Amino acid sequence: MRFANARLADGRRHDIEVAGGRIAALLPASNEGDLDLDGALVLPPLVDGHIHLDKTLLGLPWLPNQATGGRVADRIEAERRVRAARTVPESETGANLVRQVMASGTLHMRSHVDIDDQLGLRNLHEILKVRQLFQDLVTIQIVAFPQSGVLRSPGTAALLDAAIAEGADLLGGLDPIGIDGDLDGHLDAIFAIAERRGVGVDIHLHDLGEAGIAQINAIAGRTEAAGLQDKVAISHAFALGSVPTGVAARTADRLAEAGVAIMSHGPGGAPLPPLKLLREHGVRLFGGSDNVRDAWSPFGNGDMLERAMTIAYRANFRHDQELAFTFDMATRAAADVLGITDYGIAVGGPADFVVVEAETLAEAVAARPRRKLVVKAGRLLARDGVVVA
Ligand SMILES: [Zn+2]
Repeated sequence: MRFANARLADGRRHDIEVAGGRIAALLPASNEGDLDLDGALVLPPLVDGHIHLDKTLLGLPWLPNQATGGRVADRIEAERRVRAARTVPESETGANLVRQVMASGTLHMRSHVDIDDQLGLRNLHEILKVRQLFQDLVTIQIVAFPQSGVLRSPGTAALLDAAIAEGADLLGGLDPIGIDGDLDGHLDAIFAIAERRGVGVDIHLHDLGEAGIAQINAIAGRTEAAGLQDKVAISHAFALGSVPTGVAARTADRLAEAGVAIMSHGPGGAPLPPLKLLREHGVRLFGGSDNVRDAWSPFGNGDMLERAMTIAYRANFRHDQELAFTFDMATRAAADVLGITDYGIAVGGPADFVVVEAETLAEAVAARPRRKLVVKAGRLLARDGVVVA
């Protein structure tokens, strides 16, 4: 199978020869392929570093947001009511979301899955079904996420441990101070399981200011003590955008030393971590959708090209290299954090790619063009935004 006339990120045109699901050769451009891409841009698959497949209400009738206040705790309570009233299983809505993100070119993702005293492991079981259903098409990494806290939700630590035994890949966490009111108690529970099970950690941290920074430094210290360097991430880390530059820079050095990555989805209503400063200090940065049409947010569509644009917009990025930076957060850098090593458009690499009408990466981020083709292992997975596999 030959995809002719593909424009690669460096601007050069090639034919992509595919054999056995992999890129066998990058040949001089011709008009002799099985499919002529006519100079369209070929991107590596998009990677969603933070999504919630179990929370989405995608495919269900519109449900107005029911949170009675603007705090994280208000949204947790509102979601518990929505969950209790749900009749459609999370595996069904989760599959709707996976189909939608595949159509937009995402082939790898990390999904947090709620685990607490209300749900037990139900949502994990539902999302394990989704992972099974799509196992040949997309990578789904699962984080066992204590959405109601660990200490204030009785039995959650044991459930998290059981979740790892049943197939979750990482331990999650949530605002040790803001939700559980006990920094050490929360981190003791999470890191003890992670260390014993030999898995990574990805903690939601919304807490702001010095309290947030203290938690980031504590997570860095725990990461080193547990020997989990390069296996730990903090999602959101709004605190980094809420303190003076000097404090953010010192904290960035601690994160880089400890090998702790930062995920941002380009929040609308919270401080954005200083992305350039973090990168200059050697911190790994990656992007994710976070909530897609759920009890937390009415927004989101799981499109990581649009997410790269949202992050760039929020950061006030305008130059091509800045847009390429957020594109990297939605592709290569996220793949690195997720440990996806078989990745990228190169001879010998997987024949996984996304085709769009654009001349450069920057244009693709700015314009978020329709995905003409999504190709997985040389096979057409989606065309013009519709899954065909
Ligand atoms: Zn989240």
